[in-house]
Amino acid sequence: MKPPLIAFTMDQSPAADVRPFARGRELYFINAVYVRYLEGADCLPMALPTLLDHSRIPALIAGIDGLLLTGGDDVYAGAYGEEVIPGQWRIDPPRTFFEIELIREALHQHKPLFGICRGCQMINVALGGSLWQDIASQAPGARQHRSPESPILTYHPAAIAAGSRLHAIVGRESLTVNSSHHQAIRKLAPRLQITARAEDGIIEGIELPGEDFVLGVQWHPETMDEMSSSRALLEAFLANCLERSPAR
Ligand code: MN
Repeated sequence: MKPPLIAFTMDQSPAADVRPFARGRELYFINAVYVRYLEGADCLPMALPTLLDHSRIPALIAGIDGLLLTGGDDVYAGAYGEEVIPGQWRIDPPRTFFEIELIREALHQHKPLFGICRGCQMINVALGGSLWQDIASQAPGARQHRSPESPILTYHPAAIAAGSRLHAIVGRESLTVNSSHHQAIRKLAPRLQITARAEDGIIEGIELPGEDFVLGVQWHPETMDEMSSSRALLEAFLANCLERSPAR
């Protein structure tokens, strides 16, 4: 059997980016840990950069077996009807609108969706939810969800909802997860269900109830490759991609 073809979305660095790797060129890029994560399982990973021409999205989605929505820059708050609050964070409106259309088309075609960090937030936004644009300044009482130092990862427990697909996959009621985000889901989209929460109430996991595999986690399983839950999440996603693909 041919392994499933998995497209993953990418970050963008504008021409104005002064970081050394960009050198004044507009670039699409991806943190290599996502590639290693996919490569560690039986699938065919394929980079999917932000397209400005959304008319190609139905054919793109038809051609893949599953979509991995990766982490990255901030979701554009205008996509859920808010003014962007001033801050030092990069936002990526073209990627935001591209991913909204990808997600809606993937749902339409019943293609499995797996969202990591920003990708989890994107599933919520695409289905009509909103975000805390900045947890520290907007969500009173919330803990630090990203370390102020480099590396920016911190760790905290997450309670996993009984009866959820996530619970069935990881087989645990609590996980210690990594955390490297300053945004989070605020208003949950109407069709989604919360599957994981941090102790401060911040939403750490979501899914769409029902047959379709639409699952998001706020943490980064791709950087906790040694943890069985991270492997189990990817394997469950890929198994669903194989099942759903009609040509097999
Ligand atoms: Mn967190």
